[in-house]
Amino acid sequence: MKITSIINGVEQTESNGETMAVRNPFTGELVAEMQLADEAQMEEAIENSVKAFNNTMKMMPAHERADILLRAAQLLEDKKEDFARVVAIEAGKPIKHSRAEIQRSIQVIRFSSELSKHMTGEVLPMDAALRGDQRMGMVKRVPMGVIGAITPFNFPLNLSLHKIAPAIAAGNTVIFKPAEKTPVSAYMLTKLFHEAGLPDGVLNLVLSTGKVAGSTLVPHKKVPKITFTGSLTVGKIIRDTAGFKKVTMELGSNSPNIVFEDAEIDDAVERLVNAAFGYSGQVCVSAQRIYVQEEVYDEFLMKYKEATEQLKIGDPLDEETDFGPMIDEDAAERIQEWVEEAREQGATIETGGERKGTIVYPTIITNVKKEMKVVTEEAFAPIVTVMPFRTEDEAIENTNDSIYGLQAGVFTKDISRAYRVADKLEMGGVWINEASVYRQDNYPYGGVKLSGLGREGVKYAIEEMTELKFIGVRL
Ligand code: NAD
Repeated sequence: MKITSIINGVEQTESNGETMAVRNPFTGELVAEMQLADEAQMEEAIENSVKAFNNTMKMMPAHERADILLRAAQLLEDKKEDFARVVAIEAGKPIKHSRAEIQRSIQVIRFSSELSKHMTGEVLPMDAALRGDQRMGMVKRVPMGVIGAITPFNFPLNLSLHKIAPAIAAGNTVIFKPAEKTPVSAYMLTKLFHEAGLPDGVLNLVLSTGKVAGSTLVPHKKVPKITFTGSLTVGKIIRDTAGFKKVTMELGSNSPNIVFEDAEIDDAVERLVNAAFGYSGQVCVSAQRIYVQEEVYDEFLMKYKEATEQLKIGDPLDEETDFGPMIDEDAAERIQEWVEEAREQGATIETGGERKGTIVYPTIITNVKKEMKVVTEEAFAPIVTVMPFRTEDEAIENTNDSIYGLQAGVFTKDISRAYRVADKLEMGGVWINEASVYRQDNYPYGGVKLSGLGREGVKYAIEEMTELKFIGVRL
């Protein structure tokens, strides 16, 4: 299969750019040959998106945007198994988790369709200000223009839709630059939107390297907004080159979870196995640090180990598989080195620690020191550290001792303690009796500290992709 960029509705088969192979992370087999866009093609896509914004989107009424989105949601519903298989094959995500991603993606398009009809503004009491009588003032939300959407490999469909669908709902056009590892679902998604009736040029797919996007799309003066989901390293580069434009950054974390002595231990264990090892820990809110109160530490660890060892490891396409490969061998080697480094520094590997090709076995690490990489840096891999604590204050202090602050989980039956702790955690979001990894697509999602800037979650993404415009009248 050969896939190309899609500009103004046309597949760019004539590109002079290089090609790149997309491989199945589990089998190593070739999934697709991707024709890469060069700088000139990116430039062409941006010019075309500007035209589509001025000639098409600016005139398109909200009910039409809503209908297109609704049709896209229905088409995705019809083709959900095809999409799930592609995500399983190109991202190495177990098929049951891929299906869950597609189901969420459908919802994200539906939320966007609904909200496109509710971009309300307000009428201001102008006479509240001196000299304001006999004046009228109103505030509208208006689209920004061309949105540059740069996305990661780990939720190739849903995290792309968290940008594309709200952007369209708000009346923008989009340059969609997906991750190099997972361009096939992006290509299928762009075609699906065209099939749903999205006019040419409103969604331009540019299959390029990060380097080309970084030098062309990010600093481009006709692109007023970049919305990025990915690593802190790349986020910093984008922030530096974006100049004066607006940016939304959904970056990484080393997500903490706190288990208090009164928690439902079996429930916490079950949720935290999934939170640490789901999609091989390659989730921005994967549980990486688990703080357990000392009264229940031994019980928790024993049950946690036992449950982790039950995970079925294997082919992502197998219905029974809970746990598959990492995205590539480099990622697997990197985390193996971190685990070895921790072991040399005195940590105990309770289970896992082994690697076979791209598979890194689910790894629980104890006796860690807070300076170790496995604690302080984002692992983005199937490893988790479990640490005992004595007091509530100590748990809060350890949790907040991080450059990141995306989402945390707190397990306790004490409602007062739950609120108290949630208030004190430096996080974009806190879940009580739920693990850090849980996300719904309709609440404000994003981080504090180096976990990001701005929020997604359809309503909030729309706010970030529109400008407030004031119109005043002197009567
Ligand atoms: P990545 O940062 O390597 O790549 C993300 C995207 O950026 C890709 O499309 C890539 O091609 C592009 N890119 C690379 N260099 C670029 C440059 N110089 N200029 C512009 N674009 C460039 O991330 P990844 O490995 O695909 O994804 C993993 C990371 O994403 C993890 O750190 C994870 O925590 C983070 N993430 C965050 C969230 C969130 O919502 N906060 C969600 C998912 C993933």
